[in-house]
Amino acid sequence: MVNWDYSYIIPSFMILIIIMGYYFALPRLPIRMNKTYLAILIVEGMVIIFDVFASWADNMYAVLPAWLLVVLNSAFFLAFLVRAYLFFEITITILRLNLWKNKLSGFILSLPYFVSLSIVLIGFFRGTVFYIDENGYHQGAFYPVIYLCLYFYLAVSFVTIYKYRHKIRRRNERVSTVSFNIILLLGSIFRIIFPTLLIYDTFCLMASIVLYLSFGNPEYYLERRNMAFNSKALRSYIEENEGRGRFKMLAFCIRDYHDVREIYGSTQMNQGIAMISNFLKSNYPECLEFYYQGGRFIILGDVTMNWEDIHEEMRHRFMLPWKSDDAELYLEAGFALIDCSKGYNSADEVLNIIGVMLEKADALGSDFNILADENALADFEERISLKRSMENAIDKREVEVFLQPIVAAKSRKVVGAEALARIRDSEGDIIPPSAFIPLAEKNGRINQLGEQVFEKVCQFIAENETEKWGLFFINVNLSPIQFMRSDLGKRFLSTIKAYGVSPDKIHLEITEEAMIDEQQMEKQIQIMQRDDFKFVLDDYGKGYSNLTRLKKSPFINVKLDMEIVWDYCNHEDEILPMMVEAFKRMNFEITAEGIETEEMARKMTDVGCDYLQGMLFSSPLPLDDFLKKYKTIE
Ligand code: C2E
Ligand code: MG
Ligand code: MG
Repeated sequence: MVNWDYSYIIPSFMILIIIMGYYFALPRLPIRMNKTYLAILIVEGMVIIFDVFASWADNMYAVLPAWLLVVLNSAFFLAFLVRAYLFFEITITILRLNLWKNKLSGFILSLPYFVSLSIVLIGFFRGTVFYIDENGYHQGAFYPVIYLCLYFYLAVSFVTIYKYRHKIRRRNERVSTVSFNIILLLGSIFRIIFPTLLIYDTFCLMASIVLYLSFGNPEYYLERRNMAFNSKALRSYIEENEGRGRFKMLAFCIRDYHDVREIYGSTQMNQGIAMISNFLKSNYPECLEFYYQGGRFIILGDVTMNWEDIHEEMRHRFMLPWKSDDAELYLEAGFALIDCSKGYNSADEVLNIIGVMLEKADALGSDFNILADENALADFEERISLKRSMENAIDKREVEVFLQPIVAAKSRKVVGAEALARIRDSEGDIIPPSAFIPLAEKNGRINQLGEQVFEKVCQFIAENETEKWGLFFINVNLSPIQFMRSDLGKRFLSTIKAYGVSPDKIHLEITEEAMIDEQQMEKQIQIMQRDDFKFVLDDYGKGYSNLTRLKKSPFINVKLDMEIVWDYCNHEDEILPMMVEAFKRMNFEITAEGIETEEMARKMTDVGCDYLQGMLFSSPLPLDDFLKKYKTIE
């Protein structure tokens, strides 16, 4: 009779029940990771139960029938093997590998598992791993197979983790993956040294907890506010179903979400979002519901469902208010249907299409034809190729600088210029900044782009001694993102020094967007002014311009946006002259943009503008053309 020690295994079981309680309380995304983890928890529970009962039964062999001992011990060994294999399976799932992608390696790697299972199963008929005789339970000749199988999968796990470690992006996830396998290894060693402690299950439980904390917790895939799946969940689901997606999605957005949110306030709006999620969950239980931030939802389900009906139902539902005890919201929605049943190349592609379609749906609402058709794909292709051109230009330092002259209003002499960035597509055609600047801002490349323009301008000034032929300044545009960088001054200063250019030759243009955080802006300008940089306010009158806000602003020049220049030139009124007058009192010089005709030039000069810029004088020119046209001395 073996004196089994149950002091580890029983508390382990109780802890396992708690984890399961948490796990089952929340909705779980049906992806491989979660399915495998669920299987681990269940099998872990079974192993513990069989372990306890089998060891108990082994001691009671004298009074229990032999078949019961065989059944309990076999069940234990089977569950034990399954668990070992599942830990391996979850390791390769974390590494985003598919065992069966290559049939041969899939077969070789799963062979030990199936062979071991078969050996245990044969044990029902004749003793293999163990046998029962009149003296009770004994280890059989094949008992080491259990350990061989266990160590085989641990070894393969370690090798695979090492080989594919780059596939796990986050460091803590990498550490967790290694740790839970080390825990399993330690546990198996303990099992050999202290066989009566039944302690291996505790180590497996520890491994499951590590897995729960890093990968298994259903909350990672949930949006807290409404318990719908989140955007990470959507990406995981789409990634996993790449190449065999038999689903469609109805995506919809609350139109003008940010404005609506401001009107109703965030508390009411969150309730609204929860109400919509609940509606989706109770009406489409066979679908998965995702909340994709910013008032955007996605219902994902099988292709065979009647998607037109779902769309109609949702459209009707949005005609009614969303009401609860303390909220009542009237919301408008835009819809888009996205068909993934014909396959797709990557999750990025699908997510981008969702983004493009919802933008359209937001803008056009019910007028919008809801099918994601070739247009959406074409849009997507266009975005991708634009992004490629932009990154290519930045990486290869091929961002071009064009110069547009700025003339003194009275003398009509060219005294300065504005540097405007250009890039080219794969055919060599010019792409305008309105297309690539926002993209560079979104993709975190704007700093590099801006610095390249700045450096090329410095080089131009240094090489051509611009001041000698009357070009006193060149304006360079700064994106608000670039402007907010705390080390901007330092970086520009070092470039300027490298080219031996004086900082006051470069005027930095910023727009009112940079003025949202006024204190921050003033601080940044003050710091850079100490190094003699000059600032110009661009596009005045485009946004919600506010004269009084400018009072303290340290600009040397304000550029009137072409919209208000054109407005004034079409219908003269009192406002623009008064504005110019006020600016002059504040000691700002003024530039009028978008001057296209002689008449406009005259009107803006009469109003009191100091500088003029526009097609009348010249469109933006490549540097060489600019030199040919305006560099008057050699
Ligand atoms: P912006 O700074 O207001 O530049 C003036 C824009 O007006 C330029 O457009 C210019 O070509 C255009 N323009 C000039 N005169 C006329 C005219 O008489 N009529 C009309 N219809 N348009 C005129 P562009 O080059 O397409 O640049 C657009 C915007 O892109 C710029 O507006 C600026 O905000 C931004 N941008 C350009 N280069 C850069 C850069 O290097 N960095 C950053 N952050 N933004 C840049
Ligand atoms: Mg500008
Ligand atoms: Mg402008």
